[in-house]
Amino acid sequence: MIICPQLLFEHQMGEFIIDIVEYMPTNRGKGVLLIFNGFTYAHRENRTRFYCSKKAIGCKARLTTTEEGNLLEVVESKHNHAPPKLYRTNDGKVYKL
Ligand SMILES: [Zn+2]
Repeated sequence: MIICPQLLFEHQMGEFIIDIVEYMPTNRGKGVLLIFNGFTYAHRENRTRFYCSKKAIGCKARLTTTEEGNLLEVVESKHNHAPPKLYRTNDGKVYKL
């Protein structure tokens, strides 16, 4: 249930604190998506290597995190697509539409 969603990121691209990452549940409830700089990333073999959610369309952006889930290194920051529309609910959770 989304109550009074606020559009995030889309109009605030210059305001990101770039070393902050957030996590959100995936649509299917398995694993997590990582949110960084307005883009979402999914992990593959382990939870310290994340690949852009648009990897399937050829996006090569990826990053690594520590075991604790903090950003470690942005391996590739360029995306070949626009960022997804992300909304934050009043209780602080982030959803992708
Ligand atoms: Zn991407």
